[in-house]
Amino acid sequence: MATTTSQAGSARNSKLQEFFKDQLKDMYWAEQKLVKTLPKLEEAASSAELKQAFNSHLQETKNHVSRLEKVFELIGEQAEGKKCPAIAGIADEGEEIIDETEENTAQRDVGLIFAGQKAEHYEIATYGGLVQVAKTLGYSEVAELLSVTLSEEKNADIKLTRIAEGGINVQAKEEIQEA
Ligand code: ZN
Ligand code: FE
Ligand code: FE
Repeated sequence: MATTTSQAGSARNSKLQEFFKDQLKDMYWAEQKLVKTLPKLEEAASSAELKQAFNSHLQETKNHVSRLEKVFELIGEQAEGKKCPAIAGIADEGEEIIDETEENTAQRDVGLIFAGQKAEHYEIATYGGLVQVAKTLGYSEVAELLSVTLSEEKNADIKLTRIAEGGINVQAKEEIQEA
């Protein structure tokens, strides 16, 4: 049985390396999916602040895609996506919220924030793990790149919380359900 070592590059064909690559592919697919989904959330939102939050996270998300390409390059792998069923499902839920709520309502905005935060939390979980595994595998530059993305995901999540608590939730409470 192989023993552990802190030497970079010593375990490049380990099962952990394989898992790491797989999770990178999952995120590569997920980020590309979010590049397509965020404009729909932006378009469906009515609060200007929320629209702006989705739009600025779209710009960041495009960078997440290219950062992952850089990561693949650094580990000597072809950038390749593999369907992430979790983000696919969260995106479907987002569409469902849009279908089931009325335009220009705070209720819809509350739902869009839920969808956005579900995506952020998934990304935070995955990038958090990826940063740790990158360090374990001795990929320090990769770990740094992934932590930049991780902090952008965390900030996006915090921003959505602020927007919800800054008025949208209370506004939605005032909206009366029509018969
Ligand atoms: Zn992202
Ligand atoms: Fe996934
Ligand atoms: Fe994100």
